[in-house]
Amino acid sequence: MTEPFVLPVLTYHSIARETTPEFASLTVDPGRFAEQMAALNEQDVNIVCFGDTLAALATERRAVAITFDDGFVDFAENAFPVLSRLNMPATLFIPTGFVGRRASWLRGRDAERPILGAADLADLARHGFEIGSHGRMHLAADINPRTWCRATPAPAASSLSR
Ligand SMILES: [Zn+2]
Repeated sequence: MTEPFVLPVLTYHSIARETTPEFASLTVDPGRFAEQMAALNEQDVNIVCFGDTLAALATERRAVAITFDDGFVDFAENAFPVLSRLNMPATLFIPTGFVGRRASWLRGRDAERPILGAADLADLARHGFEIGSHGRMHLAADINPRTWCRATPAPAASSLSR
C-alpha cells in the first residue's frame, strides 16, 4: 500500500522578540524564524500559497505551505523581509473585522497587538503574498454557537475583496 501524500503547512502567528507568557507558544523569535526559512530554502521542496495546496497535492509535488494567522504588524517587520529575500510565498489569514485595529479578541497585553491595515495588506498582495480570511471577528468556530459563526464568512470575504 502506498503512503498517503502529505503536504506540511507551517502555521505561524507572531514573529517577534518579545511576547507574553500567554502568547509565547504562538510567538517565534525573528532570528529563529530566519533560520527556519533558510533551512527550508535548502530543501528540494516547492513553497506554495495555501490556495495552491490542492493542486500541489494532486500532482504529488513535494511542497510546503507557510501561513500566518491573525495579521499581526510584526509580520511586515520581521517575516516579510526574510520571505521576500528568499523569494518564498506565504499566505496571511486576516480577521477582517480587525484590519488596521488591535487584537481585542485576545486578553490582557495581547489585546494591544496591532493588526496590519488595508494599505499594508494591499502592498503585501502586490508583492505576491496571498491574503485569506480568518473570519471576521475571530470567533472560535469550535466553541461558539453555529449561527454566529455561519453569519461571518460572507462579510469577511466581501471586506477582503475591497
Ligand atoms: Zn487566529
